[in-house]
Amino acid sequence: ASERESMYLVSEFAQKHFSEMAWETELGKAIGLSYFKERGFTEETIKKFKLGYCLDKWDGFTLAALDKGYKLKYLEKTGLTIVKEDTQNPGNSKKFDRFKGRVMFPIHSMSGRVLGFGGRILSNDKKAAKYLNSPESDIYHKSKVLYGIYYAKQAIAKEDNCYLVEGYTDVIQFHQRGIHNVVASSGTALTPEQIRLVNRLTKNITVLFDGDAAGLRASLRGIDLILEQGMNVKVCTFPEGEDPDSFSKNNSYEEVVAYLKDNSQDFIQFKASHLMKEADNDPIKRADTVRDIINSISKIPDRIKKEIYIQECAQIMNVSEAVLFNTLAQIGKKDQ
Ligand code: ATP
Ligand code: MN
Ligand code: MN
Ligand code: MN
Repeated sequence: ASERESMYLVSEFAQKHFSEMAWETELGKAIGLSYFKERGFTEETIKKFKLGYCLDKWDGFTLAALDKGYKLKYLEKTGLTIVKEDTQNPGNSKKFDRFKGRVMFPIHSMSGRVLGFGGRILSNDKKAAKYLNSPESDIYHKSKVLYGIYYAKQAIAKEDNCYLVEGYTDVIQFHQRGIHNVVASSGTALTPEQIRLVNRLTKNITVLFDGDAAGLRASLRGIDLILEQGMNVKVCTFPEGEDPDSFSKNNSYEEVVAYLKDNSQDFIQFKASHLMKEADNDPIKRADTVRDIINSISKIPDRIKKEIYIQECAQIMNVSEAVLFNTLAQIGKKDQ
C-alpha cells in the first residue's frame, strides 16, 4: 500500500479503537460515553458520528496499534503517536498517545474516510487546550476540510443552503435535532478551499455565530472570502452565552427552524448596521466602516448585485450613493 493509504488505514483503526474503548471498557463507558450522554447526545448520534474515547494511559492506543501490526512510522505521521527521545535511555525513544484522556471526534473527508481527529479534554482544566487536533499531514490538510461535510453533503444540495458553525458539537447537536445541512470550520479561520467544497453543492451559506461577541469582527472579515466566490451569505447570531449546540439542545426542531428563519440576515446588511452601531457618532469610525463595507461589496463578482447593495447600504449607513460608488471605484483601481 502507498504511504497515504497506510495513513488512512491506521486512522481507520484509531477510530474503531476509540469507539471500542468508549463502548466496551468500564473506564471508557464511565468517562467517555457518559461525557457524550451528559451533553445530550443519544446513543444513535454517538454511533453515527463514530465518537470515541482515548483512555487516560500514556500509550494504550499506540501499543494496541503496534500489536495489530500497524507501523510506528504511520502512527507518527498521522500524529496519533508522539515519539520522543528517552532522556534516561539515550538511543531509545518513548511513545505517547497524543489524545490521552480525551473524547474523540473523527474528522471525515467528503467521501467518508477518516483524515484526523479532534479530541476534547473532559475537565474544564484551563491549563490544557480544550480541543486538540491532529497535526497537518499528508492525508489531513486542515485548510481543505470541513467537519461534517460527509454527513451534510446530500442535505446541503437538497436544502440548497449550508449552515456554517464553529464547532464539532454544534454540527452534531444540529443533526440530532433534524437539521442536516451543517458543517464546521472547527477553530481555524475559513479558507477559500473550504468554501469551494460548499460552493460545489450550493450557492447559499448561512454563518451561525456563537453568542459570545469574541471574534465576531474577525469572522466578519473571513466572510468576504465567501462573497468572492459569488455565493450569497447570510448570518445569524445566537443569544448571549448560547451557541448552535446549546440552542438546539434546549429548543425543539420547530423552535430552532423558526429562530434561524427569523434571525438570519443578509451579511452585507448585517455588517453595515452592526458596524455603524459600533461606530456610533464618531465620524472617523463611520468613515472606516463605510470603507470596510464597500470593500466587502467590491468582492461580489456580480455587477447588478453590487449596485443593489450600494443602494441598500447608502440607506443603512445614511450616506449618499454617490459617495459609495466613488469609494467602490477607488477600491477597484487599487486592486488593478
Ligand atoms: P464545547 O461546547 O465543547 O465547550 P465549542 O465547540 O462550543 O466547545 P468553542 O469554544 O465555541 O467550542 O470553540 C469553537 C471551536 O473552536 C471548537 O469546536 C474547536 O474546534 C475550536 N477550539 C476551541 N478551543 C480550542 C483550543 N483550545 N484549541 C484548538 N481549537 C479550539
Ligand atoms: Mn465560542
Ligand atoms: Mn461554541
Ligand atoms: Mn459549545
